[in-house]
Amino acid sequence: MAEPDRFYLTTAIDYPNSRPHIGTAFEKIGADVQARYRRMEGYDVHFLMGNDEHAHKVARKAQELGLAPKEYCDDMARQFKEVWRALEISFDDFIQTSEPRHHEGCRKFIQQVYDNGHIYKGTYEGLYCEGCEAFKTEKEVNEAGGVCPDHKVAPVRRSEPCYYFALSKFRDPLLEFYERNPEFIQPEARRNEILALVQSELRDVNVTRIGQDWGIRVPFDERFTIYVWFDALLNYVTAIGYGSDEERFKKWWPADIHFIGKDITRFHCALWPAMCFAAGIDPPRMVFGHGFVYVKNEETGIVEKISKTLGNVVEPMDIITQFSGEAFRYYFLRKCPFPADGEFSWEGFRLTYNADLAGGLGNLYSRVVTQIGTNFNALLEGTAHAEPGVIYTEVDTETTVQQMQAHIEACQYNQALDRIWLQILKPSDQYIEQKKPWILVKSDADAARRVLYDLVEQLRCVSILLKPFLPRTAEAIYRSFNFPQPWEEVRHEDVWVHPLQTEDLRVIAKLEGGKPRPLLPRIA
Ligand SMILES: [Zn+2]
Repeated sequence: MAEPDRFYLTTAIDYPNSRPHIGTAFEKIGADVQARYRRMEGYDVHFLMGNDEHAHKVARKAQELGLAPKEYCDDMARQFKEVWRALEISFDDFIQTSEPRHHEGCRKFIQQVYDNGHIYKGTYEGLYCEGCEAFKTEKEVNEAGGVCPDHKVAPVRRSEPCYYFALSKFRDPLLEFYERNPEFIQPEARRNEILALVQSELRDVNVTRIGQDWGIRVPFDERFTIYVWFDALLNYVTAIGYGSDEERFKKWWPADIHFIGKDITRFHCALWPAMCFAAGIDPPRMVFGHGFVYVKNEETGIVEKISKTLGNVVEPMDIITQFSGEAFRYYFLRKCPFPADGEFSWEGFRLTYNADLAGGLGNLYSRVVTQIGTNFNALLEGTAHAEPGVIYTEVDTETTVQQMQAHIEACQYNQALDRIWLQILKPSDQYIEQKKPWILVKSDADAARRVLYDLVEQLRCVSILLKPFLPRTAEAIYRSFNFPQPWEEVRHEDVWVHPLQTEDLRVIAKLEGGKPRPLLPRIA
């Protein structure tokens, strides 16, 4: 048998100076759907996440708390992973940039770029804040009205020795690369922005800092540490063995998708591939810059950017403890288009949950199982080897699945979910209302059995299709029945290629008085 195709995907690594908010979680969920989908389709998947720890603001936060930076970062990494697990994020590896494997790989990488002649010594001049002991960008300072946003003090102009990466040399190779790989920058809308940037203002970048303790030492000049962007981008290669395990690195690199927020597209689409060229490795295959989540102010109705200053930060755990991790995933995947922006409000969340999950999906499941439980003692006799009937004729099941797969591969998760609700769940609701098996059973038990069998088939299809989106709910639905195929092995193709029901169909979920436990209880 041929080796399965491998699929390597990553998310952005986060600064652990505060806990993750719903916007951070949005990215991880989107990447997770892709990872779970690819695993179902038989790919050998490696899904990397992590934290970006060498930023000055991280060290400062640790200092405020009286902790050593490493101690602080380890504790934050534990907290981040706790949130990601509560959201069922199926990462295979979580890198902290303070780990030895990252330090070692970074030092080898920058040495290689230096040896290849793409790093040179110079002077950096910029706006320096004494309080931060760090340079601030023009943008940060301008946005704060000419002062350091943290210290409210005007920064001073300062210059210091540094090393530059000769990014401007890579203008033509980058433009050629974009030309040959039109898929590289996704979604399409971000492409023009990057093209314009690379054509007009690609400047060499300072990749070191002097006199900082918290960071990775530059191997060819130990007075310097590697600047945080150069260091951070390298997590994608150091985590899979760059500089330490050549074979492992060869297996996984280049990455199939880097998922990142749209605001950092330029670093990933220009600086990062140029760094790869400079070190003599392949660039990644695709960078996907997803949209943002905004928060709707319930009092004013104004949609705001998530910010500590506005006091509108919502942490995933606030939602998970009131609803569930699955409810969280559903809302953001269905209501916020991944390539574009979306918004959150508690009211919108509650309405969506109750209508689509407690109502639509949970209600259909409960009605079907209850009918089988109360009227047929949980067993549909005579259904072994039966072919299910078609209940929706406008689009056949195979087409629905193919539409969904195309949407998932394009990261249009909301549209993929729309297909399930519009082309399977809604017709199933109409079917049960029209056939009324609870009345039909009194006059024609065989016909009622048949109707329920057809509806269980719809639940089977839905559970497989929902597996990458709502892994727990999907599994609970599937495992409520004695379907012949193991849950671990179901693939999208099994939705339309109905595997033979070898035994009579039976409800194996625990029932009380013929009824199942509510799958997705309504929340007031
Ligand atoms: Zn400052």
